[in-house]
Amino acid sequence: MIQTLKTYFGYDSFRPLQKEIIENLLNHKDSLVLMPTGGGKSICYQLPALLSEGTAVVVSPLISLMKDQVEALRANGIAAGALNSSIDETESANLRRACIEGKLKLLYISPEKLINEVDYLFRDMSISLFAIDEAHCISQWGHDFRPEYTQIGILKEKFPDIPVIALTATADKITREDIIRQMHLQNPRIFISSFDRPNLSLAVKKNYKKKEKIKTILELIDRHPEQSGIIYCLSRKKTEEIAEELSDNGINCAYYHAGMGAEKRNQAQEDFINDRVQVVCATIAFGMGIDKSNVRWVVHYNLPKSIESFYQEIGRAGRDGLPSETILFYSLEDLILLTKFAMDSKQQDINMEKLNRMQQYAEADICRRRILLSYFSETAKCDCGNCDVCRNPRERFDGSVIVQKALSAIVRTDQQAGQGMLIDILRGMYTPEVMNRGYDKLKTFGAGREIPSRDWQDYLLQMLQLGYFEIAYNEKNHLKITENGTNVLFGREKAMLVTIKREEKNISNRKGS
Ligand code: ADP
Ligand code: ZN
Repeated sequence: MIQTLKTYFGYDSFRPLQKEIIENLLNHKDSLVLMPTGGGKSICYQLPALLSEGTAVVVSPLISLMKDQVEALRANGIAAGALNSSIDETESANLRRACIEGKLKLLYISPEKLINEVDYLFRDMSISLFAIDEAHCISQWGHDFRPEYTQIGILKEKFPDIPVIALTATADKITREDIIRQMHLQNPRIFISSFDRPNLSLAVKKNYKKKEKIKTILELIDRHPEQSGIIYCLSRKKTEEIAEELSDNGINCAYYHAGMGAEKRNQAQEDFINDRVQVVCATIAFGMGIDKSNVRWVVHYNLPKSIESFYQEIGRAGRDGLPSETILFYSLEDLILLTKFAMDSKQQDINMEKLNRMQQYAEADICRRRILLSYFSETAKCDCGNCDVCRNPRERFDGSVIVQKALSAIVRTDQQAGQGMLIDILRGMYTPEVMNRGYDKLKTFGAGREIPSRDWQDYLLQMLQLGYFEIAYNEKNHLKITENGTNVLFGREKAMLVTIKREEKNISNRKGS
């Protein structure tokens, strides 16, 4: 493996998880890989493709990405090709023949073409593995759903013995489980590499008016002279409006949204990539597949609809590893609008839950990076020191006893209680559900009587964000203790909670932002 890595890719060693992932695939097992952009996902299927008989089929949603990959592989002396709508009949026929004759190691293919080829081309060729790039596109719960992707679930039915590797840089727990289900992955191993991006600073500004937002952005641009940045807005109109505002202030600025027509969009993107414009004001349509390493800052002019989208978008800053800034503007107005969108959507519950988590991030009193990492099931061991909360710490106290009471109640209910029920138990409320399940007989029943219900809600939110428990969304939102939580429960670690100050909880209060 190392030899092939060196010969074809010129690297001396594997990055974390690459070796394990490759071995799993070579053992004909399915896997789901979560790795941040730039983490090195491609090698995880390219190397097994080289070490296996037959051709590896790689499903990829973007023609431009496919082209880049194929060119890079060919430059390394690897036989690769791409089958998609951009190539002509002759080319496509040649490629088909090469596949059937076993002359290609990797075939990149769009999901539409894949569905067409399943019965003819694939039956006649020897396939080593299927790799599904940007696998979150298969899930309606992911943030970039593509209907064409849903059909690729048939691969496992048609080719049950060929291993599948699904790869993505963005999938929270819900999306992950959906990918596994829809792809029919068989006992997949799930590989999650660290999502931490310590070079990105995090900050939230609450309830800024337009003037204050513009001023903040202009200061940001001043701090990073002649360096690029992206401003994400909720609406198309907003992108144009902000771009105009910044242009009026002498900033070289473009806008980008899905309503513009392909040519203008490409122009804006090219101008940005080639540093002809400094700032792009964009809707979420901008960025996928953009590999610009020196974006120094990302601003969210409006609240994003989920932490997944947010994380993906701030992740476009600082790819070169150098310090970069991110700022999120958060207002009640946005929250209301996004709530309405979520309520009107098909997946109402899930979209609301995602929005709630985004809101919790924006309102957090604890290290924001901890929240991001815990959202992706990673637990941070300490505060980051590079977010606005860490830089202006809230007042804290040793809340170990409070946390232990709650965690103990979680454990004593066999982790079968949701948040509301748990608070009832802690407060010693004789509700019908509590009585029915016999929870009034638990040792922790009433153990937290002295703490008001809404303070419990606050502490539980802090505990969730500190990674002491998780919410099982597919199990009626029951609370499940984590390893971090167990450490506090057994007194191996202290739990520092933020002191609740009621008047500061109000979103309309600008203090502390
Ligand atoms: P992703 O698909 O996860 O965004 P890529 O597969 O494009 O990431 O890899 C990102 C960069 O890291 C590429 O330039 C790639 O060549 C490089 N890379 C991948 N694996 C290694 C490794 N083991 N050692 C050094 N560089 C690597
Ligand atoms: Zn922090």
